[in-house]
Amino acid sequence: MTNPGVTRRFERAVVTGGAGFVGAHLCELLLAEGLEVIAVDNLATSSADTLDGLRRHEGFRFLRHDVTHPMPLPCRADVVFHLASAASPRDYLALPIETLRAGAHGTENALELARRDDAWFVLASTSEVYGDPLEHPQREEYWGNVNPIGPRSVYDEAKRYAEALTSAYRREHGVDTGIARIFNTYGPGMRAHDGRMIPAFVDQALKGEPITVTGTGEQTRSICYVEDTARGLLELARSGHPGPVNIGNPHELTVRQVAERIRDITGSGSPIEEIDAVVDDPKRRCPDISLARDVLGWEPKVDADDGLRRTVAWFRRAPLR
Ligand code: NAD
Repeated sequence: MTNPGVTRRFERAVVTGGAGFVGAHLCELLLAEGLEVIAVDNLATSSADTLDGLRRHEGFRFLRHDVTHPMPLPCRADVVFHLASAASPRDYLALPIETLRAGAHGTENALELARRDDAWFVLASTSEVYGDPLEHPQREEYWGNVNPIGPRSVYDEAKRYAEALTSAYRREHGVDTGIARIFNTYGPGMRAHDGRMIPAFVDQALKGEPITVTGTGEQTRSICYVEDTARGLLELARSGHPGPVNIGNPHELTVRQVAERIRDITGSGSPIEEIDAVVDDPKRRCPDISLARDVLGWEPKVDADDGLRRTVAWFRRAPLR
């Protein structure tokens, strides 16, 4: 195992879930940093179209594969980023068993790959491990308040298991591992209908339809621009720190404020309407990122207005998916 504080250099990365929203941005960043990248994805919640831009890079390869089966990679990797998992509530509620399997068997197979190659391993965990938090803002020491049997548990508990498995591989097998707890991330490349707040609001605003906030809209979220999140994952891998480390934007906004900003940026006349609250929806969500600042030298660079403007501009150009 390496010592925290070390800056590691990598030549070849495997990104599971590399055709997904965050995964594709991470692949772009790694390629821009001069790495070879192998994206492994079964396209369960993404489309091969995402790969068009990535395939233009010489150093990019794609393997269509379900990570719940062992990964047949002929070459060695220096770093494995494990992102493969349904991530939007709409996806994981439609794919409950698959989501649990991706967190369990998928994480084990990705860890085995890292162990085989003596590679660094980064788990894309989530702020959902904090559940509906009783502490605020959320620090990494907080163990969370999760309903283990509710509909969202297929995602939350899969990630909690994945964190436990990652920690066990570190202790038992000496694998160099890092755990990133990613908070709400948004940006270009999201699917309009994946059920997440920002693409839904942008889609509704651009169509002039009511922008639907769940419950009162007074629940809070922190929203992190995807380029910042991808950079956080890379910095974690380079740092040698085991984490868990919160990767998110500490600027807290209510869901209604996000809806209002998107309405302003799009210039839409859409009304904001309240719809039924979601089961086990967290009331407050905001990371304490002191650890990321201290050990990774990382903090978000793109503020909400800038990020939302870039996202709206992308949605205006993109075919809505
Ligand atoms: P996404 O759905 O866009 O991407 C996930 C990718 O994983 C998809 O391409 C999907 O096809 C792939 N996948 C799913 N199951 C697979 C399997 N069994 N084998 C191979 N590939 C599989 O989601 P995203 O927003 O890009 O999220 C990526 C990761 O980041 C996830 O692990 C998610 O839990 C984590 N995360 C994301 C956010 C966010 O706000 N986007 C927040 C917290 C954590």
